[in-house]
Amino acid sequence: MIRFEHVTKRYADGTAAVDDLSFEVAEGELVTLVGPSGCGKTTTMKMVNRLIEPTSGRIRVAGEDIAGVDPVELRRRIGYVIQQVGLFPHKTVLENTATVPHLLGWQRKRARERAAELLDLVGLDPSVYGDRYPDQLSGGQRQRVGVARALAADPPVLLMDEPFGAVDPVVRERLQSEFLRLQSQVRKTVLFVTHDIEEAVRLGDRIAVYGHGKIEQLDAPAVVLGAP
Ligand code: ADP
Ligand code: ADP
Repeated sequence: MIRFEHVTKRYADGTAAVDDLSFEVAEGELVTLVGPSGCGKTTTMKMVNRLIEPTSGRIRVAGEDIAGVDPVELRRRIGYVIQQVGLFPHKTVLENTATVPHLLGWQRKRARERAAELLDLVGLDPSVYGDRYPDQLSGGQRQRVGVARALAADPPVLLMDEPFGAVDPVVRERLQSEFLRLQSQVRKTVLFVTHDIEEAVRLGDRIAVYGHGKIEQLDAPAVVLGAP
């Protein structure tokens, strides 16, 4: 579903943040990108929705070279969740979640029904939380809204950049279990950046272990951990 072909990204100072990277993520697979800070994980992810353009190489999503896809169109097809999800402060939780369906031109009623469904899916009862504003939620709840919003247009691909990195460990564990349950239902193709190896092991079908600009190993968690 996502395929990197000899992708290199050099920033202005000339160093390769991502260096001749080739790998593939299968449909419905969740690959965690793990490694120390600065090794190229976020750069890898942001090239998939064209927030960053590769210096050379090709990226395909569902077989299509994304260099030929309008970035705005591409971002509608790819869900994106970051560490501190930016919600519209003057919109309710339900309105925030319905943003993308609105942009896609859905009828207001249908967009709101879809939003309520998604809030349910991420463990937020829409009848309790739907009319709240973002500052009336805990950090963990805001991240859940971020996941719901990213799923709103039912994108085949989900990019997650340390989505549970800014919440305390207890909440993080709960978000991880909920996300696993959610993923077993929706089966998105997911790239998930984390610097937490435990999180990478728990969530990943496979783990991509990064060194400087390169994937040093891409295997199932048990293999990465050295089990026979
Ligand atoms: P990670 O996500 O693994 O922490 P990044 O992909 O953010 O790593 O960064 C990889 C390398 O590219 C780092 O050395 C970082 O300093 C550099 N880098 C990232 N973004 C930029 C930028 N906009 N301009 C210049 N260098 C950058
Ligand atoms: P979570 O595990 O989802 O992060 P917390 O344990 O942080 O939740 O919060 C527990 C409860 O407190 C939640 O039901 C949430 O609605 C409520 N809560 C947290 N922060 C706020 C706030 N700023 N305003 C209103 N309610 C809040």
